[in-house]
Amino acid sequence: MEYFIDINSIPKMKNIPCFKIKLLPQDNIAEKLPKFLYADKEIGLRSKIGGYPDFIQEDDRPICPECKQKMSFYGQLDSLNDEYCIGDCGMIYIFVCFDCLETKAIIQSY
Ligand SMILES: [Zn+2]
Repeated sequence: MEYFIDINSIPKMKNIPCFKIKLLPQDNIAEKLPKFLYADKEIGLRSKIGGYPDFIQEDDRPICPECKQKMSFYGQLDSLNDEYCIGDCGMIYIFVCFDCLETKAIIQSY
């Protein structure tokens, strides 16, 4: 019996190893930026590359407009503080298709 792999049947979506992003202020304004006043303590610290998206709302992983496969989750960027808040303590989620080099960013918020 022969086995072969149809490469078109392999999902193109990749699961990237997870890295937490630590924010290192690069100027005086960033250094002195006030923290959230009332948000939960993890808000502002959820930025990462890889792993799985910490969706605030429903799973909204986009489809690549070129190849129509599910896009890979590349990372998420958290709100910074009350002044630079994405909606209500929301985040930006970034997706990529490694084959077509398409990207898509979405926002979810409470
Ligand atoms: Zn694609």
